[in-house]
Amino acid sequence: KPSPRSLQPQGVLVLLGDMGTGKTSLVLRFVKGQFYEFQESTIGAAFFTQVLSLNEATIKFDIWDTAGQERYHSLAPMYYRGAAAAIVVYDITSMESFVKAKKWVRELQRQGNPILVTVLVANKADLETKRQVENEVGEQYAKDNRLFFFETSAKTAQNVNELFYEIAKKLEKAS
Ligand code: GDP
Ligand code: MG
Repeated sequence: KPSPRSLQPQGVLVLLGDMGTGKTSLVLRFVKGQFYEFQESTIGAAFFTQVLSLNEATIKFDIWDTAGQERYHSLAPMYYRGAAAAIVVYDITSMESFVKAKKWVRELQRQGNPILVTVLVANKADLETKRQVENEVGEQYAKDNRLFFFETSAKTAQNVNELFYEIAKKLEKAS
C-alpha cells in the first residue's frame, strides 16, 4: 500500500523535442494506454499526472508535455527548470528532428539546474521503412552524452512503459 510520503510528486518530468515527434502520443500511451492517429498538436504545454508502482514504492509523476514549435521555445525553461527528469524525443523518420533533439540536449546541459535523469527517445520505431536515423547513431550520441536511450513506438506501445519505469527507478534511487 502506498505510504503518504509516496504520494508526493517525486518526479516532475518534462518532454522536449520537435513538433510531431510523438511527445503527446507517448504520454497518452503511458497514461491512457491509447494511441490517436490524428493527435492534435499541443498548444503551449499540457500537464498530466500518473502514479506508477514499483516493487518498493509508488512514484507520482507530474508530466509537462511541451509544444515543439519554435515560437514556444522561450517558454521551455519554465518547464525544464525544476524538472527531475527530461525526455528528449526525436522521430526516427526525420533527421531534422534528431538535429533538434541534439540542440535540446545541449540546452539542458548548459542550463544550471540539475536534472537527475535525461533520456533520449527515438520514437516511431514502427516506421522502419521510412527510417532516416539509424539506431546506432542515436545510441552512440546518447552514450557520448551520458543519456539513457530508448527506441519507442507510441503506436505499438513498444518500450513505452519500459521508458517510464526506468525513469521511476532512477528517481527512486536518487530520492
Ligand atoms: P508531438 O507534437 O511531439 O506531441 O507529436 P504528437 O504526439 O502530436 O504526434 C504527431 C503525429 O505522429 C500524430 O499524427 C501521431 O499519431 C503520430 N505518431 C506519434 N507517435 C507515433 C509512433 O510511434 N508511430 C507512428 N507511426 N506515428 C506516431
Ligand atoms: Mg504534443
